[in-house]
Amino acid sequence: MKLEIQKAAVLGAGTMGSRIAAHLANAGVDVVLLDIPTPGAETEQQRNAIVAKAFKALKKSRVPAFFTGETSRRIRLGNFQDNLDQIADADWIIEAVIERLDVKQQLLEKVDSVRRPGSLVSSNTSGLPIAKLAEGRSDDFRAHWLGTHFFNPPRHMRLVELIPTPETTPDVLAFLGEFCDRRLGKVVVEAKDRPNFIANRIFLFSMMQTLQAMARHGLSVEEVDALTGPLIGRPRMATFRLADFTGIDICVYVAKTIHELVPDDERRDVYVPPDYLLKMVEQGMLGDKARQGFYKRDRKAPGGRLALDLESLQYREMLKPSWPSVDRAKGISDIGERLRTLFAADDVAGKFLWDALSDLFLYAAARVPEVCDDIVSVDTTMRSGFNWQQGIFEMWNAVGVEETSERMKSEGKALPPLVERVLASESKSFYGGDAASPTYFDLASRQSHPVPPRPGVLDLSRAKAVQAAVRSNPSASLWDLGGGVALLEFHSKANSLDADVFEMMESAIDETEKNFGALLIGNDADRFSAGANLKMILGLSLSGRWDEIDLRIAEIQQLILRLRSCKKPTVAAVQGQTLAGGCEVALRCDHVQAAAETYMGLVEVGAGLIPAGGGCAEMLRRHTDGRSIGADLTQPTRAVFQRIATAKVSNSAAEARQWRYVSSENGITMNRDRLLAEAKQAAVALAASAYEPPEPTEILVGGRGVRAALELGAWMMRQAEWASDYDVFIAKKLAHVLAGGDLTQASYVSEDYLIGLEREAFLSLCGEKRSQQRMEHILKKGKPLRN
Ligand code: NAD
Repeated sequence: MKLEIQKAAVLGAGTMGSRIAAHLANAGVDVVLLDIPTPGAETEQQRNAIVAKAFKALKKSRVPAFFTGETSRRIRLGNFQDNLDQIADADWIIEAVIERLDVKQQLLEKVDSVRRPGSLVSSNTSGLPIAKLAEGRSDDFRAHWLGTHFFNPPRHMRLVELIPTPETTPDVLAFLGEFCDRRLGKVVVEAKDRPNFIANRIFLFSMMQTLQAMARHGLSVEEVDALTGPLIGRPRMATFRLADFTGIDICVYVAKTIHELVPDDERRDVYVPPDYLLKMVEQGMLGDKARQGFYKRDRKAPGGRLALDLESLQYREMLKPSWPSVDRAKGISDIGERLRTLFAADDVAGKFLWDALSDLFLYAAARVPEVCDDIVSVDTTMRSGFNWQQGIFEMWNAVGVEETSERMKSEGKALPPLVERVLASESKSFYGGDAASPTYFDLASRQSHPVPPRPGVLDLSRAKAVQAAVRSNPSASLWDLGGGVALLEFHSKANSLDADVFEMMESAIDETEKNFGALLIGNDADRFSAGANLKMILGLSLSGRWDEIDLRIAEIQQLILRLRSCKKPTVAAVQGQTLAGGCEVALRCDHVQAAAETYMGLVEVGAGLIPAGGGCAEMLRRHTDGRSIGADLTQPTRAVFQRIATAKVSNSAAEARQWRYVSSENGITMNRDRLLAEAKQAAVALAASAYEPPEPTEILVGGRGVRAALELGAWMMRQAEWASDYDVFIAKKLAHVLAGGDLTQASYVSEDYLIGLEREAFLSLCGEKRSQQRMEHILKKGKPLRN
């Protein structure tokens, strides 16, 4: 039977179930979300109270779970008592109820009696044995059954562990892997059905063993956090802030479960929670949800927080940790070199890190092939599941496997078989080769194998490793991607648009017109571009040489407009922040391929400016196109005005499409790893068509009447205290541009006329003290100033 997923059922509307349901809805799947009936309720509506409450909270979630406001309509609610029959036509049933074997087994028994044969069934359990959960179920159930372990929050955390049992049909595993990758945008790793799979088994070890090393070296909570965060390529939450976020009770529960379930684990004792952890749970110091854990917020305390003293379990002022080795290491950008420096240090920081990390390295090595067959899966898991910069074997490799193994042996530590075999191999390393053809050590064959390229993924570092750039400067480069496509890559700080980027953009267009079939603008960083380099604009503004600024901005405008008039097609591959000037670049390309997680907006107002790279003109065109003189122009112009005046940023590519930053013909790629390949495909297709650049068309503007309506809107925002006086001042300039200047009535105007108005308004704002203060503030503090 052909497998497909159009309708899913999620059982359990708690933290995970509700958010998994939301993300399935984001992927265009219809979902039925069920939870337990409210005890004692008489009517069906009353019995739905638990699920309804969860759904309400989901829609208001601080980190949005849905791509757009409308996405939530794909979810229908119900309860296990009245609505279990609704799973009968579901293609995928995901169990996400409380972590109790008996509860899950009982529910799955009911599922077995209702589901249609052939439907997929999975559990989101964090670590219960997958095969055991399906004991007693029908043959068809067990053939379609596996673990699908999402991370919290499922929309944003990229990892999904798939855990098949020996009875799971290979087709089912392959299909769900593909579905999670392409439709849900996930990084998929196959794990074995061992307690807590790969991610939580190794992560919990890392956390618990950090506690032990901390005690051995007499360190405090904040000292350990200073050592186990960005310094070693991990997120700022490091160890204890993350434990507070996760919940101390959960950490204790998972540690105890692993301890119980892994009697043969050589390091099993590490999972025994220390006394203070148990006392913390007893005393309700559960972390963020209890407002106190390893840290407690306290507005009066320096830094706004107090730290827990683990002996007295009292909160005290935070220490400011500092060690000579850390000060030295901080300046080293290469993680291998940084760790080598730290490991060689004989202060307590260096000794602690060596102790904790060498222990973790050995434990992870001993888990292969227990939890998965290869080292790549472990590394992918730690990177995608916990946002580590490097996986464990990547880190170990970067420090040097031979030297560190020698040191471990000299300290009496036994090397696991994987490490012995690596050392006995020719390469003597976990990873080898070069950026163009990387290799990894395969335990089964005891030798290095090429890391296979992923079909449908354009790996930019590999593509770049086999060629020299066509051109390059410190902020941008031009590459030949093959197939007649040139790639313009920004690599300035935050991929901001500075003079070098513009210079490269100009030569990229020239070069493409001469030697390529299409120009693709994109990169493989976290963001497409944070916008124009404010330092450059502020510098020009403070110099007060207005004629020069005017000329420079006019040049930039013409350059961005050239993306549309270029004789060859232009494509932008956008992901992450695509803001201000970055957004304007994308707006001018013939095609945009947007990763689902794209945050797009014309946010110049936050810097005291308005868009002047054709953004106002283009958004106006997109909103008034198809209307004619005499039609209502206030409403479409107001839509543009409000978004720009309030510096709105889309929460997703789908929302950017609703706002017309991404057009309905543009593509959305759920998995950002696939973005560049799909954008390149679009570029190749456009190049193969009989491409002609679009003729410039006139834009319909509303004139003074519309301007007055927009100004009234700004005034009302001020009255409601949503805007400051200066916001209103900028909004009026924006209203002037969007209404088409001083025209007495609705008229068609040329694009050049409108961008002239943009430039005039932009320039006048550059001369305003408060705009300059806004720019300075963003540059210094990284966030807008409301002055
Ligand atoms: P939760 O406590 O937020 O939600 C559990 C849900 O189970 C609730 O909706 C509750 O109403 C329901 N429930 C309670 N008693 C029940 C019963 N007797 N029968 C049926 N349903 C019942 O839990 P969660 O964090 O969403 O976890 C759900 C599953 O996902 C668990 O298996 C957990 O291990 C796993 N998980 C959690 C996380 C996480 O970070 N929270 C991450 C990955 C996996």
